[in-house]
Amino acid sequence: MYDYKCEYCDGVVKERIIKKEVFKHKNGFVMLEDVPVGICDECGYRYYHASILKIVEEIANGKRLPERTEVIPVAHLVNQ
Ligand SMILES: [Zn+2]
Repeated sequence: MYDYKCEYCDGVVKERIIKKEVFKHKNGFVMLEDVPVGICDECGYRYYHASILKIVEEIANGKRLPERTEVIPVAHLVNQ
């Protein structure tokens, strides 16, 4: 899925399975588990394959049902 040269350095983008990865989209966040993420072995830049971003978009748009929904604690950092 990855194994290509990094766009930002001379490193190679290697696939790593990440337990939990949170993706931001315009309506909020989607968390995927056991995600194959491409990580540069030099600079650590993360790459996401188009098929993963498509799943995030489908969940965000309600086209694909998530397995479950988790509640995320939110705090507002004004007037502390
Ligand atoms: Zn790099």
